[in-house]
Amino acid sequence: AQLDRIASVDGDLNAFLHVDAEGALATAADVDARRAAGESLPTLAGVPIAVKDLINTKGQPTTAGSKILEGWVPPYDATVVERLRAAGLPILGKTNLDEFAMGSSNEHSAYGPARNPWDTNRIPGGSSGGSAAAVAAFEAPLALGTDTGGSIRQPGAMTGIVGVKPTYGGVSRYGVIAMASSLDQVGPMARSVLDAALLHEVVAGHDPRDSTSIDAPVPSVVDAARRGDVAGLRIGVVREFAGEGFQPGVQRRFDEAVAKLADAGAEIVEVSCPSFTHGIAAYYLVMPSEVSSNLARFDAMRYGLRVSPDGNPSPSAEQVMAATRDAGFGDEVKRRIILGTYALSSGYFDAYYGSAQKVRTLIAQDFSTAFAQVDVLFSPTAPTTAWRLGEKSDDPLAMYLEDVCTIPANLAGVPGINVPIGLADDSGLPVGGQFLAPAQADDRLYNAG
Ligand code: GLN
Repeated sequence: AQLDRIASVDGDLNAFLHVDAEGALATAADVDARRAAGESLPTLAGVPIAVKDLINTKGQPTTAGSKILEGWVPPYDATVVERLRAAGLPILGKTNLDEFAMGSSNEHSAYGPARNPWDTNRIPGGSSGGSAAAVAAFEAPLALGTDTGGSIRQPGAMTGIVGVKPTYGGVSRYGVIAMASSLDQVGPMARSVLDAALLHEVVAGHDPRDSTSIDAPVPSVVDAARRGDVAGLRIGVVREFAGEGFQPGVQRRFDEAVAKLADAGAEIVEVSCPSFTHGIAAYYLVMPSEVSSNLARFDAMRYGLRVSPDGNPSPSAEQVMAATRDAGFGDEVKRRIILGTYALSSGYFDAYYGSAQKVRTLIAQDFSTAFAQVDVLFSPTAPTTAWRLGEKSDDPLAMYLEDVCTIPANLAGVPGINVPIGLADDSGLPVGGQFLAPAQADDRLYNAG
């Protein structure tokens, strides 16, 4: 049924870069046979899933949304994919994304943008826009995304689905193509909080192959999702995430959600996190610095594309590398590599990267202060609803501002969930609300969500 749905709607949505009908059907048949034989299988066995094309799948292409990896087939599975296979989830295919996960609209994909199922002239958010569109359009009940500065939560908000960025280190990054290693996390996308929780428990947990993986039990997020009781919960509303730049229709839905939480017995407390307003500035130094280092491995020798410079019959290795990176990387990726290389260069390191790391510490301290007063924080996930394709393409800074509410969680390593909170009365499009919790308290997100 899901493959038929993909065949009928994905021509308009471009959510999938690759569909593996044969592999998905083989897994489904295997699960059916084992179930018929009386074997007891994991809860999600037989439930199909879509996987962001930043995550390695053995034998299936993995492009990162980039021409530089066109045609590359990984020789191994990411840990999260191994866990999906072990739990019997058929993998439908690989979903569209901004190139190397850099963007908030999916328009930076080298394979054309994914589109928002609510209005195909609009962006589905990014960078996990293909995963969000696939789940929102009923092409898949579940998907995996990655979130470095909001890329699960913001497309979740734009398409009206649930998306979770787990605690940093909660889910293995082994086999996930790195954008900014100190910020990246894999997480679930689904149409309900409980579905997301079930997937969370499949993929989370310690992995010795990821040195940043947390060696501790996974919080009981399924129980928390089933509980769903906010009576007595202290919920902090972040004063800095309102006002200028926030679409009135988003703000109205958010205020209404706060009132509903209060009606359900939550204690609403206004909190101030003054350093959060510097999150974007710090992120756009830390992230590109890590990008410039991580993307050095695409050197025309190890993976994918190799281009020879025009009219040069015997180019040097360096000339091949330059020609390949020039042809293979898109403009946004080049912009960030150059920014990061500059920020890390000798003489500038302390002024830029060093300062950004200090701001990062201040943001973590704001979270600690807030979580001494409240159990979770609540804010809009994004300041606006989905915009028209092309509307912000000429203005990278306008696009960067869309991440104002999501970035602090990545800088501090704390978990966050997007939940749909209704349609904006000024655009008719989905609005998302975001809960944030202390590190390793992911269960609080599922309970509140
Ligand atoms: N939109 C942010 C960026 O462009 C976040 C991307 C992400 O989380 N992968 O960097």
